[in-house]
Amino acid sequence: MRDLEQYREVMERCSQCGYCQASCPVFSQELLESYTARGRTLLIKAALMEQTLPVSKRTREIVANCLLCGTCAHTCPGGLPLDEIFMAARNLLRSGGPAASLKRGLHRKLMEQRGHPGAAGKLGPLAKTLGFTPSDLPQPAAWPFLADQPGVLSPNGEVRARVAWFVGCAANSLHLDTAQAVRKVLLANGVEVVLPQGLACCGLPALAQGEIDLAQEMARRNLDALAAQEVDAVVTECTSCVLMLREKAAKLFEPGSPEAEATQALAPKVMEAGAFLHQLGLSHTPKENSLTYTLHQPCHAASFDSQVQEELALLEQVPGAEYRPMADPASCCGAGGDFFLKNLEVSRGVRRSKLEQIEHSKAEVVLTPCPACRHYLGLALGPHKVKHPLAVLAGAYD
Ligand code: SF4
Ligand code: SF4
Repeated sequence: MRDLEQYREVMERCSQCGYCQASCPVFSQELLESYTARGRTLLIKAALMEQTLPVSKRTREIVANCLLCGTCAHTCPGGLPLDEIFMAARNLLRSGGPAASLKRGLHRKLMEQRGHPGAAGKLGPLAKTLGFTPSDLPQPAAWPFLADQPGVLSPNGEVRARVAWFVGCAANSLHLDTAQAVRKVLLANGVEVVLPQGLACCGLPALAQGEIDLAQEMARRNLDALAAQEVDAVVTECTSCVLMLREKAAKLFEPGSPEAEATQALAPKVMEAGAFLHQLGLSHTPKENSLTYTLHQPCHAASFDSQVQEELALLEQVPGAEYRPMADPASCCGAGGDFFLKNLEVSRGVRRSKLEQIEHSKAEVVLTPCPACRHYLGLALGPHKVKHPLAVLAGAYD
C-alpha cells in the first residue's frame, strides 16, 4: 500500500469484465463508467502512472468520489485490491501548502488521542471548522471513556479469558454508551480486560485520505502496545478497527520486514468483541430485553462477515429480543467515513435504499458495529434508533 507502482502488475489482471460496475454504490447513483472501479483504475493508470492523461480537477474528483467501501474488491473475479489502489492514488494526489499541513497536524493530534480533542477542548471544533471532521458529529464527551479506566478491568468471579481491548476513537469520544456496553458484557461473562497504554487510532481514517505515512506511524504505535500483551484475543467494538488491525496494517510495511511479520502474527487474534464472546460462550444468563432489531452489516466487514454473524448469534440468547432481517444487510449505507459530507447527493441516494430496507423490516432499532454507519443512519432515523449490537446484550444485564 506504500506505492501505486507496486500495484502495476496486479492492475494488468483486470479483464474489463464489469462485475465491479454492478456492485458499486456510487455507480448506482451516478451511472457513469468513470465511477466504476474499472473506470477509476484505467484513469489512475493513465494519469498517475503513465502520464498519458493530465492530472486534472476531474481526475481528482473521480478518485475522491469513492466510498472506499471495498465492495468492488470483494466482487472482482481477478482479485484486484481496488480499495488499496484508490488509497495509493489518493496518496499521490494529496494537496500541499500551509492549510493542508495544518489539517494534517490536526488529524495527527486527533488520531493520537483516539478522537478526543484533548484538555484544551479546541482541536475538535477547529477540525470541524476546517471541514476535517463532520460538522454534524456530536460534541465529544467532556471525559473520554478511557480517562477514568484502570489498566486492567477485572470481573467479579472466575476469570475465564483475558483480552486486550482496542477501544476505537468513536467509542472513546463519541459513543460512550457503546464502550460501556462492551465493558459490561465482557466483565459479566468472566473476561479480564487489559486496556493497553500507548494505543492510537487504528489509522484507517488516515489511509482513506491517502495519508499512508501517518497510518503507518499509528500502526507502529499500536503494534508496540499490542504485541507485548499476553492475552487470548485483541477485541474491539469497531468494524473499521478490526479491518485495519487484521488486514490493512500489515500491508503498510515492506513484505518480510519485522513489522509486517509481527502485524501478520497479531492479525488472527483481532476480533469483534461480540464474536469473541460468542465463541467463549455466555456464563451470565441474559434477562429479558424486549425489542425488535435489524442489522446493518458495514461494508468494511465484508472479509470477516462471519464475525458479525457470530455477534448476531449472541443476541439470539437474549429473551424477548427479536431479529427482523432486512433485505440486504450488507448493502452500503452511504456514509464512507466522511464521504457523506462532501458528496451529499450520492450518499443520500445510497442511504435511501438502506432506509427503505430498514422500514420494511419493521424493526424498532437498527444495530451496526460501525460508528460511521451508526452516525449516518442516526442522522436520518434519530440517534436513539441506531445502536451497537452489544447494547442489546448489555440491556439484558440491567
Ligand atoms: S471486476 Fe475486477 S476484473 Fe472485472 S472490470 Fe472490475 S476491476 Fe476489472
Ligand atoms: S470502493 Fe466502493 S465506492 Fe469505491 S469504486 Fe469500489 S465499490 Fe465503488
